[in-house]
Amino acid sequence: MAKPNEKDGGRKQKHRPVFKSEARSLKRKREAEDHGKLKQAIEQLDPKSPDIKQFSDLPLCEATASGLRASHFEVLTDIQRAAIPLALKGHDILGAAKTGSGKTLAFLVPVLEKLYHARWTEYDGLGALIISPTRELAVQIFEVLRKVGRHHYFSAGLVIGGKSLKEEAERLGRMNILVCTPGRMLQHLDQTAGFDVNNLQVLVLDEADRIMDMGFQSAVDALVEHLPKSRQTLLFSATQSKRVSDLARLSLKDPQYVSVHEAATTATPASLQQSYIVTPLPEKLNTLWGFLRTNLKCKILVFLSSCKQVRFVYESFKRMQPGIPLLHLHGRQKQPARLAITQQFASAKYSCLFATDVVARGIDFPAVDWVVQADCPEDADTYIHRVGRTARYESKGRAVLFLEPSEEAGFLKRLEQKKVPIRKVNVRESKKKDITNELQSYNFQSPSLKYLGQKAFISYTRSVYLQKDKEVFKFDELDLEGFAASLGLPGAPQIKFRKGEDAKRIKNAPRAAMLSGSDSESEFDADGKKKQKVRTKYDKMAERQNQDVLSSHYRKLLGDDDNDDANGRDGAGDGSDEDGDADFLAVKRVLNDDQLDDAAGGRSGGAEANGADAQQPKVVKLGKSELIIDSRRREKLLKSKKKLAKYMERGSKLVFDDEGNAHHIYELQDEEDFAQEGPAEALRKRFVEAEAEKVKEADVDDKALAKQRRKEKREKRKAREREEELARKGIAVDSGGARLGHEDGDEEGEDPLALLRSLPIAGGGGDDSDSGGEGEGEGEREPPRKKARKWFQNESDVEDDEESDKKRRKKDKKKKGAKVIEMAQEPETLEDLEALAAGLLDE
Ligand code: ADP
Ligand code: MG
Repeated sequence: MAKPNEKDGGRKQKHRPVFKSEARSLKRKREAEDHGKLKQAIEQLDPKSPDIKQFSDLPLCEATASGLRASHFEVLTDIQRAAIPLALKGHDILGAAKTGSGKTLAFLVPVLEKLYHARWTEYDGLGALIISPTRELAVQIFEVLRKVGRHHYFSAGLVIGGKSLKEEAERLGRMNILVCTPGRMLQHLDQTAGFDVNNLQVLVLDEADRIMDMGFQSAVDALVEHLPKSRQTLLFSATQSKRVSDLARLSLKDPQYVSVHEAATTATPASLQQSYIVTPLPEKLNTLWGFLRTNLKCKILVFLSSCKQVRFVYESFKRMQPGIPLLHLHGRQKQPARLAITQQFASAKYSCLFATDVVARGIDFPAVDWVVQADCPEDADTYIHRVGRTARYESKGRAVLFLEPSEEAGFLKRLEQKKVPIRKVNVRESKKKDITNELQSYNFQSPSLKYLGQKAFISYTRSVYLQKDKEVFKFDELDLEGFAASLGLPGAPQIKFRKGEDAKRIKNAPRAAMLSGSDSESEFDADGKKKQKVRTKYDKMAERQNQDVLSSHYRKLLGDDDNDDANGRDGAGDGSDEDGDADFLAVKRVLNDDQLDDAAGGRSGGAEANGADAQQPKVVKLGKSELIIDSRRREKLLKSKKKLAKYMERGSKLVFDDEGNAHHIYELQDEEDFAQEGPAEALRKRFVEAEAEKVKEADVDDKALAKQRRKEKREKRKAREREEELARKGIAVDSGGARLGHEDGDEEGEDPLALLRSLPIAGGGGDDSDSGGEGEGEGEREPPRKKARKWFQNESDVEDDEESDKKRRKKDKKKKGAKVIEMAQEPETLEDLEALAAGLLDE
């Protein structure tokens, strides 16, 4: 466009506007023609036409088409083929298709086209709003939009929180397309002045059923209230809700229900292999550990029910170093960390991510091998979304679900209703490992890990208790003591349901199971029988540690619990989470130090006969200060000198003179007295001389001592040399003697291995490298490293298992046979033989 002007230099400057406006009007004309043609093509388009197979078969504008080409999207997926034509024609859409089937493009392409046809420019404000239930998904949608929409001139933004509202608000007014989470968007609509959504053309809800459900209800309703009614609405999900009430809430107009996999026999991708194992709650972590250890060369996503579960499992497994990089993700992490972890897992080759349901929906991690559901999902829909993180778009994947025996029947029924094909597998005996002791010792070493464990315990039990589906989740059947022990905790933390009916129910639950391992209570098991449990020193120490820190940590436990959503599960973390559940189920008592001590006093019978005194505070004099005795704890304190010492004044150090009189170490002298003793300089000189004299005397003694020691050493060395000489000449010295001499040498800093090295054993002749060689030999004798093998076994697998075991044993034998002790030379003389014997003894 600018070329003609350049050629003519400055002379024809005045003509430039003419050229420009001409070009502009030409362009406008061309665009109008394009728009006209496209509109016509869309009108004539038959949405059901079998000829539509590729994006190029659709009437799309050049910008969109080239963006798709550049992103290597050519062939349409089923949902895209079904939904895009209808959406182009302006219909409201309810789209349902399996996980990983390309729903994102099914709504992004129509969004771009809609704004193109409306000739949207950056001055027109917000044209399209795309809502996602989680920040992670919003980010992902935004990235796809950036890729596909790269040739458009629309401005697009991400509104997910994590930045200041003001910062976001400034840019908001200029955006044409926004991808957002409901809570944050609502905040802007309510608070950001001048943010105008009256022209909105398209509203998209990805994972629509999730956005329409309880957690987001109020936010979405309020949000929709802000939006104009004359807009196109597109709803997509793998598990679509067709509830009329939901559709009414969004005021959909004659929505087209597009469900491409409705006739399919399964609700999950065909390339997904699904299995479940039954593992009692106290075994769960062992099973999970065994699983990870068997699948080190994999990319694994492990779902747990709450943030605390995720944190505990991550922190404790990290310490145990399974041999696969571990990551963890939950809604309570800071936004930059969440993003970084998501990206890290996305780009990892082998990794295990422990996560809550924040990444259960929509997230497109590439090449996930395994989805493990260590905690049972709340319903079959959540199950379908979780497993949908693998086997995405034509790739394969495997999923395994851990079910507690009490959940098995109920949950399988739910899965069957939803057409989820799943088979039962067992864990190979050889792959089982009990990690309880390790967890216990890590908990013991680190109080903070232990508190995480306690939190994890509480949040898990709470989430099970609050689950709606009582046919699946049976709180009363859980072995809580066993579960606590499996987390490495000394006893089950005390929990209490506070509100109404719940309080009664929990009281009636097996009491012993609910109570902590505090001394008097834990001696009874669930049947009320006295346990014959021997309390070890370890137990006692663990309990004592409790007393130090439990109090404050329990307080934290309470304060910390408020961000999981109504059933203790992780919220989306976009600011819309509800906090009202914090006191629904809480620790039974919050112990502060005083109460703890009181309890201790009561138990040990230390509180007798001071009932009256306890009412009126007693005052005890301690040195200059006074101690008020107003509690039993203080009362107890009087019995311990050591504890009382804390309240006394600090003592000062005294020295005693020859007559036994005490003096402070530094006693200040009167200035007059000091002056009488003579001039300061002379005094100083005298003092220095006296000290120098003392040093000289000490020096003489030291020198004499040093001389004496050198002499002794010399004599010892000579004696030893004589012995060695004798030994070399063949005079028998018992090995004990040789050893002794050897140890003497050690004392004097000589090489303790010198004697060994002089021995004529071992391969290749006696230098240092031998020991290395032997080390390798040792290594060979160990069983060979097992190949990563299948963790599951079916009946049919057992045979191969045995067969391969045999083979392995054979191999081992061969290797063992191969080990030969080589010697540099044949033992010839008596000395040689003796030396060899000594060497073998030493080995
Ligand atoms: P869903 O939302 O249905 O779970 P996504 O939209 O996240 O699925 O897409 C899943 C994967 O399939 C993504 O990695 C995406 O890049 C890929 N994909 C989507 N549509 C196509 C297509 N037409 N051709 C090739 N790959 C596609
Ligand atoms: Mg999706």
